[in-house]
Amino acid sequence: MAEKSIASIDRDESVKYIERAIKTFKKNKPMDLEKFWQSALAEIELQISRPNFVTWFRNSRLIEKQDGNALIALPNNFSKEWIENRYYKTILKALRNLDESTKKIDFIVVPQNQTNSIKNDIIKKRQEDTSQLSFSEFKVDPETNLNQRYDLNSFIVGKSNELAFAATQSIIQEVGTKYNPLFIYGGVGLGKTHLIQATGNAIKNLYRGKVRVKYVSSEKFTNDVIWAIRNKRMETIKEKYRLIDVLMIDDIQFIGGKTATEEEFFHTFNALYEHNKQIIISSDRAPKFIPTLEERLRSRFEGGMIADIGYPDYELRCAIIKSKTQEKQIDIDDETINTIASKVQKNIRELEGVINKIIFYQSRNNEESISSIVNKVIEETTQKPIKSININQIIKIVAEYYEISPIDILNRSRKKEIAESRQITMYLLRDLLKLSYPYIGRKLGKRDHTTAIYAYEKIAKELQKNPNLNQKIMAIKELIEKDGGDS
Ligand code: ADP
Ligand code: MG
Repeated sequence: MAEKSIASIDRDESVKYIERAIKTFKKNKPMDLEKFWQSALAEIELQISRPNFVTWFRNSRLIEKQDGNALIALPNNFSKEWIENRYYKTILKALRNLDESTKKIDFIVVPQNQTNSIKNDIIKKRQEDTSQLSFSEFKVDPETNLNQRYDLNSFIVGKSNELAFAATQSIIQEVGTKYNPLFIYGGVGLGKTHLIQATGNAIKNLYRGKVRVKYVSSEKFTNDVIWAIRNKRMETIKEKYRLIDVLMIDDIQFIGGKTATEEEFFHTFNALYEHNKQIIISSDRAPKFIPTLEERLRSRFEGGMIADIGYPDYELRCAIIKSKTQEKQIDIDDETINTIASKVQKNIRELEGVINKIIFYQSRNNEESISSIVNKVIEETTQKPIKSININQIIKIVAEYYEISPIDILNRSRKKEIAESRQITMYLLRDLLKLSYPYIGRKLGKRDHTTAIYAYEKIAKELQKNPNLNQKIMAIKELIEKDGGDS
């Protein structure tokens, strides 16, 4: 087994780290507000869930601390209210741990761009900052190929991505020696590119250019190789890639089967690896499922750390909606957040699409309330009809997923896996094709309509509380969509 879990080690390490930080801090006077706040945050982080922490605290700043009163700046009214109502005590406790004289906390709203200026004591320059900030959203650094829009602060962590996230955190601290290579895999739109680019940006900033980082899509890598072969300039490519300290290749599944590219990648990989250079790879599936990947590359990948990114659960979806709407400074109530999170489940890209559309509609028609727009938008975005998919295809795909034969689903076997696959098939036939229960029962081994109702309801209910089942259904739906799209 190449997969190892690191979450437990990390937690212990981070507790120790925080304890050390607090000790050092207590010794260090005079008081540096930013350091003080960072130490407090480190404690708060241990008290609340990671998604909540990231969502609510990452843009917070301590801007004043005098006579036992602390003043905390938050980017908008929404987060101010939220934090005041839910985290007041947690914050107070964390501040008191660091400084017993803390009595009271006040909060003020300072939009993001202004907080930065306060920090630098140049409040007057606000307006110039705003335009620069939005411009940098799309900036790609020509040296690293990294887009600055991706940063770790905006990456929300939940159960489905915490292992991958933790692995990148360790790498940032110990480039090249800890998890090498790091192989991150997961379905479309689940945050692979965001996470690896953000990791690259963090390394670049942390080591201030001393560590050379390069991000390439596997397409770009392939093009480089092809160009070099055509122009008989293999040396150039060798030099170019082997001078790198951290190489990130996105969507590696695309190089599988391209012999020359794989060959060159293999050599580049070895050259970097032998020199303890960090390699981070992303893919839409685990190495063992990239059919055309050469064995030697596969075993190299499996020799490192493999972490998957799964489908976001309900909690993470809520946290992401909160974070994205907060970023865009729109006010959105809890109920609306819940509606979006329960209906938009496919991936994070789709979730973002829905949010952007809501913002767009609202900007066109300010009168309309967000809650009235939401349902319309969700329907438009998520109800893409699955093209020409029929019952048999669904049965076939479920069977493939469970590695059983379609006949098993139709037969009467009560084996646990087979029974589950059958119920899921019934659920999907109802959910996707809206078929009637009697029809579903008849088609699946001449069963009674009550069996189909039972199966549908059982799965629908179970989905609310069982993340594993949720992952399975999302994966199957993705396969169905691919199949339907292709045919
Ligand atoms: P992938 O590379 O896996 O297809 P991306 O990294 O392109 O997915 O993510 C799709 C979109 O969703 C991006 O806009 C990204 O910023 C956003 N996103 C993905 N995961 C997260 C997350 N955990 N927190 C915040 N935004 C996310
Ligand atoms: Mg990607």
